[in-house]
Amino acid sequence: MMRIILFGAPGSGKGTIAEFLHRDFGFEKISTGDIIREEVKANSPIGRKAEAIIKRGDLVPDEVIIDMVGNRLAIRTDRGGYILDGFPRTVLQAEALAQWPPDRELAVFLDVKEEEVIERLSSRLTCPSCGAIFNSRSKPPRVSGTCDICGGRLVVRADDNPETIRQRIRVYLEATGPVIEYFRRRNTLVDIDASGKAKQVYERIKKLVS
Ligand code: ADP
Ligand code: ZN
Repeated sequence: MMRIILFGAPGSGKGTIAEFLHRDFGFEKISTGDIIREEVKANSPIGRKAEAIIKRGDLVPDEVIIDMVGNRLAIRTDRGGYILDGFPRTVLQAEALAQWPPDRELAVFLDVKEEEVIERLSSRLTCPSCGAIFNSRSKPPRVSGTCDICGGRLVVRADDNPETIRQRIRVYLEATGPVIEYFRRRNTLVDIDASGKAKQVYERIKKLVS
């Protein structure tokens, strides 16, 4: 069983790459951002607490996230592998992840310049139903406002506004920067140039998986 961990700034393409990997390899996609947004939508106790945190661009507490991922891994059906998108984001989360060792691990760092992620996030459209990601400038949906994949209605995420984008990048550099170094030291990290088109970026990653 293989584990793929996707690292990178907000807007670096983690969700898009996870979607491609899921499509081609059938690996289960575990996106902590998607799971939390579901909790918010369902107005669960966790969702109610997380909503303000996400809007600010801060991190949901480690215990909450680690529990969430643990539960998800426990019910996971074996599809040969799974993809972590948005986890681990802190060193504590990385240490917790070590209690679930896979047979093979690939950690990918999607490297993009800050100006480019800001530009991408400012024009991003998301499908709340299936998690697909579009971009009004670089990858518009076939029918305006409608998801190509499931037909859901596309939205601008509440945290894709300039102020929250700035805070998310700040938090990313501070909390997740050290996690990337942690994986680099363990020699499981591959640096991928993630500027430009998602398809080209994906081709570079696909080679590492098969
Ligand atoms: P992005 O990577 O584009 O910033 P995500 O969808 O991965 O967006 O995450 C959205 C928000 O959900 C984060 O800003 C944070 O508040 C919360 N979140 C997601 N994953 C984690 C995590 N592993 N630890 C703490 N908070 C998280
Ligand atoms: Zn959709």
